[in-house]
Amino acid sequence: MTEVTIFERILTGEIPARKVYEDEHALAFHDIHPQAKVHVLVIPKRKIVDIASAQPGDREALGNVLLAAKKTAEVLGLAEGGYRLVFNVGRHAGQTVFYLHCHILGGEALGAMC
Ligand code: 5GP
Repeated sequence: MTEVTIFERILTGEIPARKVYEDEHALAFHDIHPQAKVHVLVIPKRKIVDIASAQPGDREALGNVLLAAKKTAEVLGLAEGGYRLVFNVGRHAGQTVFYLHCHILGGEALGAMC
């Protein structure tokens, strides 16, 4: 059986989260350990483990996550200053939650990417 991740528990409401944006396809909420002045996560409502395991059939769900990220950035007032979108994939990237999520980082000038 696949592990039930923390993000699935947030989706069902079992675990609280500070929601920023929600539509029929995706949910955005503040990261519990922010790495920038603004740090929000966007997740699809239908489970995808990560980009590495995504399939052609996930194309629409992946697009919806990106459109929800754009909407979320607008809601947060990040659109003018800009922001960074990050998908961590696997061990070297430090992925810790195995439910696809897009990090939105912004609200300040961000450092260079490593
Ligand atoms: P990853 O390292 O897998 O790309 O990112 C997982 C993110 O989930 C981390 O930035 C971590 O702070 C965040 N996170 C882990 N547990 C929780 C939680 O219970 N609530 C919220 N809001 N964020 C969480």
